[in-house]
Amino acid sequence: MQLTPCMIRAYKYKLNPTMKQRKMLSQAFGNARFIYNWGLNRKKESWEKDKKNVTFLQLCKELTLLKQDGEHDWLKDCANVCLQQSLRNLDSAYKRFFKEKKGFPKFKSKKFSRDSVKFIGSVHFDFEKRRVSVPRVGKVKFFEHQTFDVNEVKLGTLTVSRDKCGDYWCTIVVDDSKPQVSKAKICEETAVGIDLGIKDYAILSDGTKYHNPKFLEREQNHLAVLQQRFAKTQKGSRRREKAKLKIAKLHRRIRDKRVDYLHKLTTDIVRKYDTVCLEDLNIEGMLQNHCLAMAISSVAWNEFVRQLKYKSEWHGKNVVMIGRFEPSSRKCSVCGYVNKELTLKDREWTCPECGGHHDRDVNAARNIKALGLSTGIGQKAATCQ
Ligand SMILES: [Zn+2]
Repeated sequence: MQLTPCMIRAYKYKLNPTMKQRKMLSQAFGNARFIYNWGLNRKKESWEKDKKNVTFLQLCKELTLLKQDGEHDWLKDCANVCLQQSLRNLDSAYKRFFKEKKGFPKFKSKKFSRDSVKFIGSVHFDFEKRRVSVPRVGKVKFFEHQTFDVNEVKLGTLTVSRDKCGDYWCTIVVDDSKPQVSKAKICEETAVGIDLGIKDYAILSDGTKYHNPKFLEREQNHLAVLQQRFAKTQKGSRRREKAKLKIAKLHRRIRDKRVDYLHKLTTDIVRKYDTVCLEDLNIEGMLQNHCLAMAISSVAWNEFVRQLKYKSEWHGKNVVMIGRFEPSSRKCSVCGYVNKELTLKDREWTCPECGGHHDRDVNAARNIKALGLSTGIGQKAATCQ
């Protein structure tokens, strides 16, 4: 596990920009997208012509020239820093493609891409007046629900975005310069194994079960009605826009409820246990399976793991990930016998070797805990040397 010397946190606020500020932000979103596509095109051209890569710095230089060529004066209307950040995003997308073999960067379309811009430096938060100053856009009002001490922290990147419902948000990354909490010792008594499921959301090795609230499934009928209404409207009509907004709002409501539930769950787990062992699930692979796709995107295990990891960093707890494809539910957690006859339908089983009676999921969680403890303690020992 990587240790960062300081605590990095992100705070998200809903913005309430004026009409003028909305216009300026819209333009900034458009400009950032234009520059991303322009940079991608430059990179592609150069590669096809003379097999050469155009670096981030070269692109920045070319951007300065582009702004002065007389045809792109509108680029000057937004802060240069957000155009440069757009090129930086492109650069990271390229790096991800070469290093992690993730998909090749695509052109961003107005319709499908996310509206967002990033700023670094000259960002100020005023919690008294509830305003954040955004370069070129000015002081934008925001709704406050949590604060940080402006004088104590170092402000990082500010991301301003607009969601599909037309609402504006800002996320600020903050470094509070506090030393990181040292990690708790990994030992059996304070560790827990978690098996993630669909019927129950999370099953813990001590027998605790967190139910799956199935927010998406519960709204399926509602969603279907809205989608039908949308399909009946004419392209380009106002009704169509309204129908689309309703669908977007419902999706956002479902997502908010889910994230809220996951926050309660992960906070609870991180408070109770010092070490959490989890299976590294192949979620992308599972999503290929159409029968499971909805259920799996609905449970949002990625989000669960993400929250668990960063909260553990905050509180000095450990998260141990174990490999996939371990026979976690078929192996008896008492004697190690592997029950090959066990099918997905069997919720409970008795071990023919030792006679232990198992709840399928709790047994899996226990196996995950045992394996996590052995790998976790192994890792710790290796880093201590
Ligand atoms: Zn057994």
